[in-house]
Amino acid sequence: MKILVLNSGSSSVKYELCNIENETCLAEGQIEAIGTEGAILEHSQDGKKTKNPILAKDHTEAISKILKILTSPETGIIKNKNEIAAVGHRIVHGGEYFTESAIVNENVKKKLEECYDIAPLHNPHNVKGILAIETLIPSVPQVVVFDTAFHKTIPEYAFLYALPYKIYQQYSIRKYGFHGISNQYITERLSEVTKIPATKLKIINCHLGNGASVTAIKYGKSVETSMGFTPLEGLIMGTRCGDIDPSIPLHLMSRESLKTSDVQSLLNRQSGLLGISQISSDMRTIIKKSDEGNEKAMLAIEMFCYRAKKYISSYIGVLNGCDYIVFSAGIGERSPLIRRKIMSDLDSLGITIDEEKNSKCIGGCETDISDKKSKIKIYVIPTNEAIVIARETKKLLDNFTQKK
Ligand code: ADP
Repeated sequence: MKILVLNSGSSSVKYELCNIENETCLAEGQIEAIGTEGAILEHSQDGKKTKNPILAKDHTEAISKILKILTSPETGIIKNKNEIAAVGHRIVHGGEYFTESAIVNENVKKKLEECYDIAPLHNPHNVKGILAIETLIPSVPQVVVFDTAFHKTIPEYAFLYALPYKIYQQYSIRKYGFHGISNQYITERLSEVTKIPATKLKIINCHLGNGASVTAIKYGKSVETSMGFTPLEGLIMGTRCGDIDPSIPLHLMSRESLKTSDVQSLLNRQSGLLGISQISSDMRTIIKKSDEGNEKAMLAIEMFCYRAKKYISSYIGVLNGCDYIVFSAGIGERSPLIRRKIMSDLDSLGITIDEEKNSKCIGGCETDISDKKSKIKIYVIPTNEAIVIARETKKLLDNFTQKK
């Protein structure tokens, strides 16, 4: 059974065609710069990568190009788009309505639209992917899988902000947490690797990519996470500031007569590693510049690691002890330097990294990088959000067919 997994962003669509029986990736890729003349389709299949400019004025045209390359008579991995049994979509924000994945129907689409208000930067684009598939393969079942759902177990005292309670009641303003699909994968995978049931593990997962978060997972359930009402809270990220004093935007709005959209852009797109380093949002570039002696790049790295260390240390308290700290996503999986800096000087909490094992782990490997004497084990596990979305899609489809 082949399941197409889609992650539709504002100007990009990432895709993966999975064979769910043996959990393999048949083909994957992405289209970037949708709606511009520079739209590019990158496609990987059978160990070969192609990169070509395409015309994609909107998401529907972009996804039609993805279907075209998947079904190409010469090189396509499938003969016909009807071989796709279902499409699973990554949806950033499920609000309070969606605490589980769901099969797309009119009611689900309506509820997704109701979430636009609390996730204006993400959900409308995610939904474009659903609408495109409705146009291009009208008969295929579609499933939505939420980045917020894994965090449904965070208790009220942890998810509420100390604003007047009626603000939560009126506007559903609370911590939701994100990267839940990745957290689910890491929890299940760590349990497989260690052969310890997730219900017996206390884990701190550090998902460090362009977006970054730390999550405390107690006996298989999320109990605390660094992202909040939106993915802006918490760690320092590529272009997002993470935690700041909430008075700062108000102060700036009055001092510089900024509009809401200016502040959105400042906090979400001009801050974080990019804002501090004034060089790039990309950690690889910042590390390179730091090695060359650039002081702002060094500062950005120090700030990034310090913030992560603060969260990890406090989550050890939240969990009343921790068994495993896991590093995942682009920076977490590939950067020995960042892992070493975050884990340094934590021996009083029972954390010691094995520098040799750490330095050898530069991508694609599942490795225990903790020193023998470390009470808390430190692992690197590459995340795989697509497979979680494919599994959820299959599970819902099977349930639906059985009910019929
Ligand atoms: P996204 O959140 O967009 O899925 P990724 O998980 O792909 O992001 O992570 C992207 C980040 O990972 C970028 O900051 C990139 O520079 C960083 N990264 C990738 N490879 C390395 C590496 N070898 N060393 C340090 N950082 C890396």
